[in-house]
Amino acid sequence: SAALDDGLVNQITRRQNTQGASSVLFYQQPIEMVSARGVWMYDAAGNRYLDMYNNVPGVGHCHPRVVEAMSVQAGMLNTNTRYLFPVLERYSETLLATFPAPLANVVFTCTGSESNDIALRIARMVTGRQGIIVTESAYHGNTTAVMEVSPSGLKRQSLPPYVRTVPAPDANTLRPGQQVAEVFADAVQSAMDSLNAEGFGCAALLVDTIFSSDGVYADPAGFLSLAVARVRAGGGLFIADEVQPGFGRTGTHYWCFQRHELVPDIVTLGKPMGNGFPMAGVITRPALLDRFSQETEYFNTFGGNPVSAAVGLAVLQVIREEELMSNAERCGHYLRAGLHNLANQYPAISDVRGAGLFNAVEFRQPDSKKPDTKLTQQVINELKGEGILIGAAGAYGNSLKIRPPLCFSIDNADFFIDKLARVMSRCARR
Ligand code: PMP
Repeated sequence: SAALDDGLVNQITRRQNTQGASSVLFYQQPIEMVSARGVWMYDAAGNRYLDMYNNVPGVGHCHPRVVEAMSVQAGMLNTNTRYLFPVLERYSETLLATFPAPLANVVFTCTGSESNDIALRIARMVTGRQGIIVTESAYHGNTTAVMEVSPSGLKRQSLPPYVRTVPAPDANTLRPGQQVAEVFADAVQSAMDSLNAEGFGCAALLVDTIFSSDGVYADPAGFLSLAVARVRAGGGLFIADEVQPGFGRTGTHYWCFQRHELVPDIVTLGKPMGNGFPMAGVITRPALLDRFSQETEYFNTFGGNPVSAAVGLAVLQVIREEELMSNAERCGHYLRAGLHNLANQYPAISDVRGAGLFNAVEFRQPDSKKPDTKLTQQVINELKGEGILIGAAGAYGNSLKIRPPLCFSIDNADFFIDKLARVMSRCARR
């Protein structure tokens, strides 16, 4: 790769000197970003990148409505939630109206990790049990408690004895006659049996409803409900982590759990909720929250502050007014059709899957069918050179994880497919 210029080297050194081993940068040649708008990001050298990676700015980078709501409210009042301010009530009601009726309460936090932490506490308190079931490459956050249920984030640490993992619901691994729903539910049942046998019991099944870090598994719609029914029959709760797929990204539904025709006991939110402003939340039934609040006081200095409420409300309004859900559905379809075309030309593309604007392109070695992590990394780096930012997902990191802002267009899809085709023609044989 080209030599790094002095300015960049200086910045990287300063980053490493200050953040030490915790510094994580993308790409061998990191990018200095200076601005962004809609689906585009701009670096210090004036290069433009299509952002296919970032599902935090769900309604688009620096959306003027969101920026205005944030700055107007910040100039008027920002404080903790121990006072009344109508913008929070309006936001809470608008947000809760997107959920099925039993899910009538919200707790505001600042990060997805905090939200999952609360969800685990509620589930354990209500059931009196300790055990949690997650998928093999799940990621649910960075606190002590949620790292214990995030196998993909562990390096040398191992999972505690009260956590069980189940394989991702991958239709490509099924034997003839098998169904995703049954295979996944059977794995969950075995995990429950094992937790019961060791005396932990099962407090909850916790999954990212699009299984993002496992590699993105959306189909067949409805498969999740059988596993959830088994968990409930065993007295456990179902926690839907909507941090990644929530807020309309999957196109047909506001929340990805709705694809599976079920109502979770607890739902956790984050990332796109504030379009970049750090805000997150927990949605649950009043009875569960009552129980939690009897046992413990919960206070969050920043969660639910007036600025976050104004920002969150603007995000919901933009999703509705700009019809971003139907846009996600339409552009997602178009994008997958183009990707399927590419897959027909390049045997290294072993699968194209997803829902709305949450998709994956999987790479395997054509002959051995082994996950092709190296090719995936090569494609990611080459796409950067073509002006496209994208990341990897899955246990082997052999899938492109495709989740652009929801203001993505058909033109953007054409641009991406054209660039990916160019990269494939350089990196893989036909
Ligand atoms: N759940 C999922 C599914 C996530 O992907 C993440 C973040 N990548 C989190 C929870 C944690 O959210 P945060 O980084 O805001 O704490």
